[in-house]
Parts: sequence; C-alpha cells; structure tokens
Amino acid sequence: MTTRQRTSPRRLILLGSTGSIGTNALAVVEHLHERKLMRFDVVGLAAATRSAVVAEQAKRFGVEHVAVADGEAAATLTGVPHVYAGADAALQLIEAVARPGDLVLGAIVGSAGLPATIAAIEKGCDIALANKETLVAAGVLVMPLVRKQGVHLLPVDSEHSAIFQCLQAGRSSEVKRLVLTASGGPFRTWPADRVEHATVEETLDHPTWSMGPKVTVDSASLMNKALEVIEAHWLFDIPARQISVVVHPQSIVHSFVEFVDGSVVAQLSPPDMKSPIQYALSWPDRLDGCAATMDWQTFGSLDFEPVDHDRFPALGMAWRVIETGGTSGAIFNAANEVAVTAFLDRRISFGMITQLVERTMDAVDVVPVTDLADIQRADTAARAEVGRLLESSLVSSTLP
Ligand code: NAD
Ligand code: MG
Repeated sequence: MTTRQRTSPRRLILLGSTGSIGTNALAVVEHLHERKLMRFDVVGLAAATRSAVVAEQAKRFGVEHVAVADGEAAATLTGVPHVYAGADAALQLIEAVARPGDLVLGAIVGSAGLPATIAAIEKGCDIALANKETLVAAGVLVMPLVRKQGVHLLPVDSEHSAIFQCLQAGRSSEVKRLVLTASGGPFRTWPADRVEHATVEETLDHPTWSMGPKVTVDSASLMNKALEVIEAHWLFDIPARQISVVVHPQSIVHSFVEFVDGSVVAQLSPPDMKSPIQYALSWPDRLDGCAATMDWQTFGSLDFEPVDHDRFPALGMAWRVIETGGTSGAIFNAANEVAVTAFLDRRISFGMITQLVERTMDAVDVVPVTDLADIQRADTAARAEVGRLLESSLVSSTLP
C-alpha cells in the first residue's frame, strides 16, 4: 500500500459523534488540522440525543448533514441545513450523504450501529470500526460484503488496532495465535461474592480506560473481552482456537501476535483511544500523534496473569458463539445489551448480567444467516427472551 496522496481533504462521516469515541475522534481531526498533517471534510454526524452537542460539533466543523435518532431532540436542532430523525436516522444520513471512498467512523454503541455500517460498506466507504457489536452480531454478513466492495475495514478497538499493526510483521499463514490483553477491569482482585453484587458506581469506575457506560460495564464483566474475541475472529479471519486472552492490568500492551517461529510481536502505548483512532484515520500513514507517549524514565512494570474464568464466566462464551455460528452472535450481543441496560437501571445484580446472557443463549434457537433480516429477527427474539426472564421471579429474587 502506497502512501495516500492527500491533496484534497478526505470526506469523513462520524456515526456516534457525541460519545467517548466520537468526541475523541473529533479531537484527533482537530489535531491533524491544526498541525496541517491531514485534512478531513466532516460531511455528516450521527448521534442518539444531545442535539445541543451535535449542533455545536456541526458548527465547529461546518457539517451540513446531521442525524439524531431521538425525534424530540432532533426537532430542537437549529442551524443545520439537513436533519435526519428517527431510529434509522444514521442510516438515512448514510443513504443521503455517503459516497464511494468516504471514510465512515462507526462509533455508535450496540447493534443500533449495524444498518448504517452495512449501508456505508454497500456505498463503497472505508470503515473505521469502533462499534464491535456490528461484527459480533453480523460478522458473517459484514466481512464478505467488505471483500465484495473492496473497502477497508480499519479497527479502532485498541486490541484490534494492536493486532492489525502486529500482523504487519509477518504473513497471515505465519500466524500461530492472537493474544488479546484485558485490563481485568475494576473487579480483577475482588472475591467472587463481591463481584456478584458490585454496584453501578463501582462498575463504572474503570482503572485504566475512560469510556461510555455500556463498554465500561462490559469491561468489568469481561463480556467486552468476549465481544472482542469474536470481533478478532471476524476481522482477522482466524479460528477461535487460535485466539487467547491474558490479563494485563496496566493496559500498555494492547495485544500480541505470536508467529509460528515463536516470535511474539506486541504493540504498546499509554491507554488513550486517540492513538488507535488516529491510526485508523491516517492509515496507511503514521502521523505525529496527540495522545500521551510512553515515558520510559518513570515506567514501572508490565504484569500478566491468566483470566479467572470462575469469577468472570462471560469470557468463555465467546468460543461457544464462534463455534456455533449462525445467529448466535446476534443473540449473544442483544442479550448482553438488554442485561447491561437492566443493570444500569438497577433492576438486576451485576452477576445476573452474565447469567441472563447464558440463559438467553440456551433458550433462543440459532439459525443460519442469509441476510440482515435473519440477524434482526435473532436480535429481537433475544431481547424478548431477556425481557421475559427479567419479569420472572428468578431474576427479581436476585436483585441487589
Ligand atoms: P458512548 O455511549 O460514549 O457513545 C455512543 C454514541 O452512539 C453516542 O454518540 C450516541 O449518541 C450514539 N448512538 C447511540 N445509539 C444511536 C442510534 N440509534 N443512532 C445514532 N447514534 C446513536 O459509547 P463509546 O464508549 O463511544 O463506544 C462506542 C462504540 O465503540 C461501542 O461499540 C464500544 O464498544 C466501542 N469502543 C469504545 C471504546 C472506548 O474507549 N469508549 C473502546 C473500544 C471500542
Ligand atoms: Mg478494546
């Protein structure tokens, strides 16, 4: 791949612009503009609510097309010529604005990001993907579509950005194993019964990363790592048995690739999402960054330890999902989304999240996937099943 000629700005659409990844991405774009390193023309923004924030972003970057899923919030938007509203607002935005060769940042949380991402790929856009739920639920559709359209799918998730970078050290046939690192989350050293009944506040207090609420809860249960194992399987076309996970509390080594000759290549940087976001935006180039860099003078130690699957049973489900295939990823993901919302709404205990996902996986039939409707039906069935379980006395008896 040759260095991209950057004579004209690159058109960029941000899906999920008001979130943790979205705002970090805009900070990276501003940094690249200020330093005259790379120019983007931000042509579309999408968010769920927070129209005042989106309006401010649109003004700051001269964006004329904005999608806000919440109809009432969209109605309060002023000063933007084109506003798209409703549950499918992000999809409407892509259909109206995206052109072949644009870059679309997928940073919506949850499977809500799936239709717009698929539409962007169909339009011939490159995707910088943070929205891991898209691949977990629908990797079986997304990856063949990426290949058919000849677009680039660039990982933003720090572990996958690391693996993407490490893989450049060898051929895919020379890869023995991908090793994803996990911080272990806030409950890494807690006993099982304390983890089981962790509060929302304790769960949202992540030791190394500052992120949106859903991914922070997922990090605490290690469900995030399960989602990431599935994401890695799809992104790098690698079987489940060649993916493993190690706990690394400092979140400095973002992942490893082991090659067949025994060599291990790792990627290191301080835990700041601006680094992988910038690499996805500037790829195949590396440009001066705006994130903190390693300070080797004050640097401490790097620790690694195995995952305790008894205290964190969520992780093990990833291999079951990959091996089962079909709609199992969509069921797994949707069940987790509903369970996390129920936990954040203080309806269930922390430990119940993983149990609800497991019970939903047992209850909802897995079918082969031929199109997006199969994924959406599985997603709906899983959400309904968790809803039923939430109403049941079994769940209410475990309330904290
Ligand atoms: P967040 O909750 O901070 O932000 C989510 C964004 O999505 C917001 O802008 C919200 O308005 C938007 N959104 C939600 N539903 C929408 C809808 N239906 N239509 C349009 N916009 C909608 O979440 P986040 O932490 O930025 O994470 C976003 C994604 O990136 C998630 O999939 C997460 O797993 C992934 N990710 C995040 C981090 C991180 O450091 N935050 C790291 C790796 C991966
Ligand atoms: Mg990650």
